[in-house]
Amino acid sequence: MLIVSNLLCSRRIPELTRRFIRCTAFMADVSKPKPVVAVLQMTSTPDKDETFAQLSALVNRAKSRGALMTFVPECADYVSETRDQAVDLAEPLEGPTVSRYRELARTLKMWLSIGGYHEKPKNADELKRIYNTHLLIDDAGTIQGVYRKVHMFDVDITGGVPSCESSYTIPGSTIGPAVATVCGKVGMAICYDMRFPEIAISLVQQGAEILTYPSAFTVPTGMAHWETLLRNRAIENQCYVIAAAQIGRHHAKRSTYGNAMVVDPWGTVVARCHDTADICLAELDLPLLHKRRSEMPVFSHKRHDLYGHVLNNVVLPVDSRSEYQFGPHTVKSSSAFYRTGLSIAFVNRKPVLPGHVLVCPIRVVEHLSELNAAEMADLFLAVQSVAEAVKKHYDVSSLTIAVQDGPDAGQSVKHVHVHVLPRKPGDFPDNDDVYKHLEKHDKNVGAREWRNDDDMAAEAAVMRKYFHVL
Ligand code: AMP
Repeated sequence: MLIVSNLLCSRRIPELTRRFIRCTAFMADVSKPKPVVAVLQMTSTPDKDETFAQLSALVNRAKSRGALMTFVPECADYVSETRDQAVDLAEPLEGPTVSRYRELARTLKMWLSIGGYHEKPKNADELKRIYNTHLLIDDAGTIQGVYRKVHMFDVDITGGVPSCESSYTIPGSTIGPAVATVCGKVGMAICYDMRFPEIAISLVQQGAEILTYPSAFTVPTGMAHWETLLRNRAIENQCYVIAAAQIGRHHAKRSTYGNAMVVDPWGTVVARCHDTADICLAELDLPLLHKRRSEMPVFSHKRHDLYGHVLNNVVLPVDSRSEYQFGPHTVKSSSAFYRTGLSIAFVNRKPVLPGHVLVCPIRVVEHLSELNAAEMADLFLAVQSVAEAVKKHYDVSSLTIAVQDGPDAGQSVKHVHVHVLPRKPGDFPDNDDVYKHLEKHDKNVGAREWRNDDDMAAEAAVMRKYFHVL
């Protein structure tokens, strides 16, 4: 396509030939098969075997109709009658139920999104709670993504049955990244998460093309909000939205809304299940999704300066740039060991103590007051992560964390930065002598006193091991 667009820009090509090129380019696009996904609607019960038999039959049907990936709803393993039962029946990731899902994916050579199963954690908390966990399994049966629901459905709506999910579920603590699948990059969420636009924005910032909301929606909230919420998330994020659903009566006390569906990035419902356990299928047109995003680039039109960012604090590869600016200096990427979209951490070329590192915003700004809210939050989240790594590596329980804002406070590099130093008893005769050293250690220093690049790269390489880089 790149060659075609270059050709189209060339003045030497006559109009008729241009039309032909446009036409063949279009035909080439059309002839490319689009991935087919299946979305499943089922009625789980408290009986795990019965529920799995139903799931397996529907996934087999999806396979026979050409789906490359099937999306299964929340409570894929069971719908319990009581909170105690929800906890008692839960299994770890290595348990037999997840093994069955993996076996099914392997046998059918099909990707599966298991939209929510009751996961027994390795170390239960004092309340003996479980996780509500969404799994992505590839066509070889390998788990490629694990997401633990972060928003708890603790509601008490007039006329409805109160729910307190947090009384038996531990909220997850991470969002994303999007997982590359056979059908595109999938952002994982669950059910109630669809009411929080921020999680969708975060997933799109982390690469999602498809947002997934496997659900077990209540009937009244489903009637009022289900389709509207899903279509909103698709339109505002320019994503496919895939929402597998529980439907019907699971036991005497619980019924769900159904209406499993696929919404395209324009907000059109392109597939929908009706009133029974069933599947529906949709073709995903990712080139069209990207065309829509470039025609209407809402993500680059956002006014973060007015309403801030959704932060994802994702750790990015440090080496994607060869160097970073630190005031008037350049810091080689080999000296850096941690990077988010807005902040960077690197080793010090004249440390006051071994392990003395620096964290700064990527944008060169002299004073803390010049940072916007997103940079400020990201900087201190970065300091928190770096501080934990320094503590672990130097086996200390204390740190000096300091910002010297302005020359009268000892700031010599005109770029906001945070000093992080591991501290041990007896580092200095008096603990606070560290500040005298911070003030003087890099003044009137000759070039020969700076550490060399190899030394700094070796220290950075060690520190990088403490961060999971995407
Ligand atoms: P301050 O005096 O508070 O502005 O601190 C500046 C810090 O940056 C000192 O600890 C210096 O050792 C350190 N530093 C200056 N230039 C570099 C550089 N190019 N790479 C790494 N650290 C540096």
